[in-house]
Amino acid sequence: MKKTIKDYDLKGKKVIIRCDFNVPIEGGVIKDDNRIRQSLKTIRYARKMGAKVILLSHLGRVKTEEDKEKYTLRPVAEALSKLLRKKVIFINKTRGKEVEETIKNMKEKDVILLENTRFEDLEKQKESKNDKRLGKYWASLGDIYINDAFGTIHRSHASNLGIAKHLKSGVGFLVEKEIKELEKLTKNPKKPYTIILGGSKVSDKINLLKNLSKKADYILIGGGMAFTFLNAAGFNIGSSLCEKEEIPFCKQLLEDYPDKIILPIDIITAKEIKQNVKTKNRFVNEIEEDEIGLDIGKKTLEVFKQYIDDSKTIFWNGPMGYFEIKDFSKGTKGLCEVIANSKAYKIIGGGDTARAVTEMGYEKKVNHISTGGGASLTFLEGVKLKALDSINEK
Ligand code: AMP
Repeated sequence: MKKTIKDYDLKGKKVIIRCDFNVPIEGGVIKDDNRIRQSLKTIRYARKMGAKVILLSHLGRVKTEEDKEKYTLRPVAEALSKLLRKKVIFINKTRGKEVEETIKNMKEKDVILLENTRFEDLEKQKESKNDKRLGKYWASLGDIYINDAFGTIHRSHASNLGIAKHLKSGVGFLVEKEIKELEKLTKNPKKPYTIILGGSKVSDKINLLKNLSKKADYILIGGGMAFTFLNAAGFNIGSSLCEKEEIPFCKQLLEDYPDKIILPIDIITAKEIKQNVKTKNRFVNEIEEDEIGLDIGKKTLEVFKQYIDDSKTIFWNGPMGYFEIKDFSKGTKGLCEVIANSKAYKIIGGGDTARAVTEMGYEKKVNHISTGGGASLTFLEGVKLKALDSINEK
């Protein structure tokens, strides 16, 4: 078991907490502060225990100097100050004299936030490629390192794995909770155990499918990725999304698990991907050459409902259709409703699915929504989460 923040005496210590403040920001306005709220428990605990709290986070992908304005963490510092009811000192630098001096003058319960760790990527991708000297430098700023950024826990970056190598370390409450929830899917899940996968690509989910096909009772497949499977099963999919190179894999999986992999039986099609175009609800053997499959149909939802109603554990990752356009969001919304009404233990893998469930108003009707899409999928693939691995054991 990994050490947690509770395993350390924090009083008077400089505690570096790696948070996940990777929130959507438009024109300086935070569009969804969920990830900030999710990190409050750990920050509040550290303050209560008398720590000097040093926060680090990434935001977006920083590739050019111009990206710096778009991806500054300043709005996060302001939002966090309001949520904590305590001024969070923001330093618009990731290292240097100002950082070091401010930390030296910190008092117990003070909170400072450094600038986006990925600003370091402008120089040889130091953060994302885990530059050893950068990790060591950040570690030199504190006494204890706490990783509470589940969204990047599967990565080896300087601000997670790099720092943890040099300090006493533990996980925060959010990471602890995420792991506990996801373990419900890997350690004797209550059966029947059903996985629902959607989104655009089969290629992103090959290892996941390989691992879960052994463990799950049913795998329901929707979204763009269903069309590569339908094609592999011999259907004409018209102009729908298809990853030709993955067809052999899909064929094999369908052959190995004919009763486990459940594909759509009907589809909403259109000739263009835009709002207010003419749509058709087609059976999968009726799709025409110039049609694009953009959502699961009503009959498919009924079939999926039967499996879901019969399940005791459910994991869902990936929208059922092109849900950003309202005409193709009904499958995803319908699935939210079906899952919300099921008695199973329900876990939602982050990313687009978390956004869809929240925006469509079903947030409170599921047991857990992960804050990390890639991280939760990596966990379910059965692969080691690199940054978690580097945290001290109890
Ligand atoms: P992913 O990033 O792989 O999780 O995929 C999410 C994206 O898949 C969303 O932006 C959806 O719009 C898209 N998507 C879902 N269904 C389809 C579809 N049938 N055709 C094209 N894109 C789709």
